[in-house]
Amino acid sequence: GNGDSDGKVYKVGIDTTYPPFEFQEGDDYKGIDVDLINAIAEDQGFEIELSPMDFSGIIPALQAGELDIAIAGMSITDDRKKVVNFSDPYFEAGLSLVVADGNSEITSLEDLKGKTVAVKKGTTGANFAEENKDKYGYDIVQVNDSTSMFQEVANGTSDALIEDYPVISYAIAQSDLKLQLVGDRLNGDNYGIAVLKGENDELLKKINDGLAALKESGKYDEILSTYLGEQ
Ligand code: GLN
Repeated sequence: GNGDSDGKVYKVGIDTTYPPFEFQEGDDYKGIDVDLINAIAEDQGFEIELSPMDFSGIIPALQAGELDIAIAGMSITDDRKKVVNFSDPYFEAGLSLVVADGNSEITSLEDLKGKTVAVKKGTTGANFAEENKDKYGYDIVQVNDSTSMFQEVANGTSDALIEDYPVISYAIAQSDLKLQLVGDRLNGDNYGIAVLKGENDELLKKINDGLAALKESGKYDEILSTYLGEQ
């Protein structure tokens, strides 16, 4: 613990559902992001209130002043850095191409000509799909959340999807989702905790100090292993 709360309750935007980073169990939100931000707030002596929303709404909500903090498996990107400041990185991720289990026709981006690729609005996956659309000749279907995106491909409505590999690997391992990762990873990135760019340096410092303290104390590893097992 490091000082007193000034009584302000920071509103924290999380993705509606993005296991193992955030998910609902009964009335409770759980996951790596949820545990991390709670532990950071506790260490740094501030109060938070979680606000789940579609991923694409999170940065706009920060800009509108409806959120103070975002932790949503959000990749640190140069584009986002134009409007938010990110904490130190807290998790390594990146994108993978995913198809229906048993699909042997699509093994890489090269096989997507004339196919349909499902992506989640506002994500790095959606961005990647958009940037490579003309090169590989596929169509894009945009959905609001990862659950719908997984269903699109499991149902055969879309041929492929692009998702962060830790998330899709976890989903496949935890459920009977009939999906498989194919080909090489499409890129690599890091998750960061975001605050609106501008007057939030003090809050960002608390977040970074809290994150460093959790790494130091072993709490960070404990949170990761709660959801991912021993790494
Ligand atoms: N990491 C990806 C991004 O930042 C996806 C995040 C998410 O879907 N919650 O866009």
